[in-house]
Parts: sequence; C-alpha cells; structure tokens
Amino acid sequence: MKHSEIIELLRKRFPNEPEYQQAVVEVVESITEVYNQHPEFAKANLIERLIIPDKIHTFRITWIDDNGNVQTNMGYRVQHNNAIGPYKGGIRFHSSVSLSILKFLAFEQTFKNALTTLPMGGAKGGSDFSPRGKSQNEIMRFCQAYVEGVWKNIGANLDVPAGDIGVGGREVGYMYGKYKKLADEFTGAFTGKGREFGGSILRPEATGYGNVYFLLEMLKTRNINIKGKRCLVSGSGNVAQYTCEKLIEMGAIPVSLSDSDGYIYDPEGITTEKLQFVMELKNLYRGRIREYAEEFGCKYVAGGRPWTEKADIALPSATQNELNKSDAEALMKNGIIAVSEGANMPSTPEAIEIFQQHKILYAPGKAANAGGVSVSGLEMTQNSERYSWTAEQVDEKLKWIMSNIHENCVKYGTETDGYINYVKGANIAGFMKVAKAMMMQGVV
Ligand code: NDP
Repeated sequence: MKHSEIIELLRKRFPNEPEYQQAVVEVVESITEVYNQHPEFAKANLIERLIIPDKIHTFRITWIDDNGNVQTNMGYRVQHNNAIGPYKGGIRFHSSVSLSILKFLAFEQTFKNALTTLPMGGAKGGSDFSPRGKSQNEIMRFCQAYVEGVWKNIGANLDVPAGDIGVGGREVGYMYGKYKKLADEFTGAFTGKGREFGGSILRPEATGYGNVYFLLEMLKTRNINIKGKRCLVSGSGNVAQYTCEKLIEMGAIPVSLSDSDGYIYDPEGITTEKLQFVMELKNLYRGRIREYAEEFGCKYVAGGRPWTEKADIALPSATQNELNKSDAEALMKNGIIAVSEGANMPSTPEAIEIFQQHKILYAPGKAANAGGVSVSGLEMTQNSERYSWTAEQVDEKLKWIMSNIHENCVKYGTETDGYINYVKGANIAGFMKVAKAMMMQGVV
C-alpha cells in the first residue's frame, strides 16, 4: 500500500467529507508499515474495503412541533463494518451532524470496538436535529420519527445503537419504546436503556469512568500519582460529568467544564456538591454552564475553550476538533503532562503532533473512551442472558477492559526510545483484529 495513493483515492472518492478524511488518514498513517508486512492484505484490497462503509441508510424524518408545524430533518445510519460482530455505535442529534461526521465516527467505532475484546462491529447514526430548546414532547416525537426511518435496519443481532451527543437515557428510552412497538419484540436492540428495562448498571458512567481508568494506566507508566492533579475537562454532558465524578473520587481536582456557549474555570475545584449542581442543571433543567459561574462565583468565558488555563492534565470531552494547534501550544506552555480523550477526535492532527513531539502521555479517544461501548457490549450480554450483573461485576470488567486496551497500545505502540505512541498502538491493535477477521471470511 502506498500511503499517498490511498489518501489521493480517499480525497477523490469523498471530496466533501473533511472529518471522514481526517479520521481515515490518521489510521492509514499508523498502519501502513504493518499492512505492507502482510501482502495478503493488499491482495484482498482490505484498505478500500475498509474505507467504503458496508452500508449507509439515509432517510427523511418528518415530525410535528408543539405549534402544529410539520418539520423535516435528515436521518442517517452508517453501518461501517461487521467483521467481528453486529454493528454497534451511538446516535447523535446535533445541528452539525453530516454524513462526513457520522462516517468518521462509524470508522473510528469499528477499530475502537475491536479494541474492547468484545464481539462488536462499527456503526454510527444520527440526525441534524437540534434538541436545544425543544420540549419533552417534541423530543419524544422526534425520537419516534427517527426510529420509524431506521427500525428495519437495526436489531439485537444486526445493529445495536446507543447514545452520543444529544442522545442520553431519555432519548434511548423513547427510541427503544417505538422500536419495540414496531418490531413487536423485546430484545436488546438498543443499549443505554433504563435499568428498569434491561439497561446495564454503570452504562451512563462508563465512558467517563473508563477514560479515568485509562489515564491511571498511562500515569502508572511514569510513576505519577493522580492525587492533587488539576484537570481541565471540556463539555458538561454525559462524558464530562462522569469523568469529573471519577477524578474527584481518585483525589484529582477538575477545574473546568464547557458547553457550546463557553467555559467555566473554577480554581477552587469542582467538588461533588458542585458536580451535583451541574448534573441537575444539564440533565434536568437543560441549562447553560454559565449558570455554574453565576451560582459559585467563578470565571466564565463566553465562546471560549478551557485549554489556556493552567493545569496538569486535560480530558477533552465535548466534540471533534475542539482542541487545535494553538490550544496544544498553550497546554504545553503550562506544563501539561497528559491528555486523555473522552470525546471522539477532539484534537486536530496538528495538536496531536505537538503532544507527540513533546512526548507527553497522549491517549486518542479510540482507546481512552472505549469504556462506554464496552459496557454497552456488556449490556448486550446481560440482555442475552436475561440477567443483570451487580455494579461491582460491571466495574471490574470495565477496569479489566481498559487495562487490556492499554496493554495492547503498549504492545503495538512502543517506539525504539521507549515512548508509547498510543495513536499507533490503538490503530494497529484495532486494525489487525478487524483485518484478520475479514481475511478469514473471504471476499464479501
Ligand atoms: P452530551 O450531549 O451529553 O454532551 C455533549 C457536550 O459537549 C455538551 O456539553 C455540549 O454542549 C458540548 N458540545 C457538543 N457539541 C459541541 C460543539 N460543536 N462545540 C462545543 N461544545 C459542544 O454528549 P456526550 O457527553 O455523550 O458526548 C461527548 C463526546 O464524547 C462526543 O464526542 C461523543 O462522541 C463522545 N463519546 C460519547 C460516548 C457516550 O457513551 N456517550 C462514548 C464515547 C465517546 P451543549 O449542551 O451546548 O450542546
């Protein structure tokens, strides 16, 4: 495989998909060497078969708002690859959703899911619908309309969606309710469900907790204790909230949170009580993070991101490309020791280059945020068993999976000078599993 030819092909085939190109280029750059050590991969043209998703479902979503107006949105489900298990990946509702973004997320998901050790393929879905300012009834009608467009293409053994930006327990509940009615069966066709109807304990916490478990593994390689470390967290949704919760439990000090309007910086630290306020603010009242600053009297920067504030560790947990080159330079200037990504692809390629040049501990989302889908996989297992495990059982498995992913990154990503290149490690480990499965299944 000539790396430049693949990138040329990608740009020609998908010219208007910058996020998709960004995600594919990163993986192609990491795996070129191992790919070329296996001439059978090129013979089977694995790379093109991985660059073109298996299937993409696109549909119109029609729904009625509270004023009786008929609204339309675009709906998508990208089924990227099912070589190692049924398609699996979240659903995103956000005004910025495009096919390019969902293809990048589905592509990443395939390799992330391979890393978890669980049998799950990669997919992602969503809509350009913005939940912001919508009533509970509008959200419910929209969720039902989305499922009407996709229900024939998903199912417990085919494709199992979950949450992502704009889709939490409430939305999964509405979607599952509609799916159950249309399909006329009660199966584990969604994960992230309510505990009362088959949801796994610790699924809401899993992405944030998992990211902190991964961070602990990275810190261990340099004998660094997390206690007292000041942490910049972005976002204030599911991933950010449970990242903060676990950081506090571990004795670290989260000092920032953000949303799409701006960020707060609380030098005193976000405590359990303050976090409780954020959870109510965001999950119940659907308020803005600015209100935290108003409540606790700290700094709020409208339109900003927290990366210029001084801290030891950064955990970007909002969205893609939220941390760019100048942000990375600011982090370096302030002596950051680790960046562990809760979000998917939050750092731009230029930012990643800076982290790696400075040889800080840097974990890409594909590895660090895999805890969420891992517990989704465990939810699928519990649903198949018609059984529920305890919090201790799930947490123990989550810890084991995150440490296993770390081990694989070390195995495939350690460079000659001892630096662990987690991007390379995660990409090679994920790719090799998918590639081997595809080879064994023939040309399909
Ligand atoms: P939520 O919707 O719960 O929270 C998203 C947060 O990010 C909100 O604070 C939101 O602000 C902010 N945000 C969203 N889009 C933008 C934007 N364009 N610019 C600035 N801020 C933005 O989503 P999650 O916490 O579930 O997801 C966060 C990230 O983690 C995503 O990248 C997702 O793909 C990734 N992830 C999530 C997993 C999960 O289990 N939920 C699993 C693995 C990865 P606002 O409220 O203003 O919109």
